[in-house]
Amino acid sequence: MVHSRISLKTKNRFKNSMRDVVSGLGKDVTVYKQPLKAECLNCFYDKLTNSSTGKCKWTALEAITKQADYLASGGAGLQYKFFKVGRCPVCKGKGFLETPRKVWVNTLVTWNPQNRGNTLRTTPAGYEGATVAELKTDPKYHKLFRDCQKVVIEGNVCKLAKPPVLRGLGNNSILVVTVFTTDTTDKESDGILKQY
Ligand SMILES: [Zn+2]
Repeated sequence: MVHSRISLKTKNRFKNSMRDVVSGLGKDVTVYKQPLKAECLNCFYDKLTNSSTGKCKWTALEAITKQADYLASGGAGLQYKFFKVGRCPVCKGKGFLETPRKVWVNTLVTWNPQNRGNTLRTTPAGYEGATVAELKTDPKYHKLFRDCQKVVIEGNVCKLAKPPVLRGLGNNSILVVTVFTTDTTDKESDGILKQY
C-alpha cells in the first residue's frame, strides 16, 4: 500500500512537471485569430461577388471632409479617399477591411516530431515537403488554436495539420498542436497593419 502511494505521488510529480517544462523551455509563438472583417466605408460592397463594386460612396469633397473628421476623432490611417471608378484605394478592391488579431502563446516547439515516431502520415495537399512542428502548451489555449488562421513560429508561417489534441487528464493534461510550414512569409499581415 505504502509503496503504491509513493509511486502515485512520484507519478503526479512527473506529470505536473510537464507543464513546468513547457513554461521553462517554451518559446512564444504568434497565433493569428480569424481577422475582424468590416465593410469598407469608402466604396459600395457587392454581395454577389463578395468584393468592391469599384464605385466610391462619396464625392471628392465628402471624402476629404470625412477623412478629416475621422482623423480628428482619433482614427488612424486611410478610411476615406475619393476615386472615380476602379480599384478602391482604401480596401484595394476587396470591399472590406481586415484587422489582424494576434496573440502570443508560450509553447514547447518540436520541429520534425516524425523522428520520435509521431509521424504525420499524409502531408496536406499542396504542401509536399512542408516541415511539421509539434507544439505543447496549456489546454486553456485549445479554442484559440482550434479556430486560428495561422501560427507563426520563429518567422515561419504555419497552418494546423489537424485539430489540436488534449493529452492526459484534468490538471495534468497538455494541449498538443501539430502544424506544418507554408511557403508564405509573415510580411503580408504586417503590411496590412502598417496601411491602417
Ligand atoms: Zn473600398
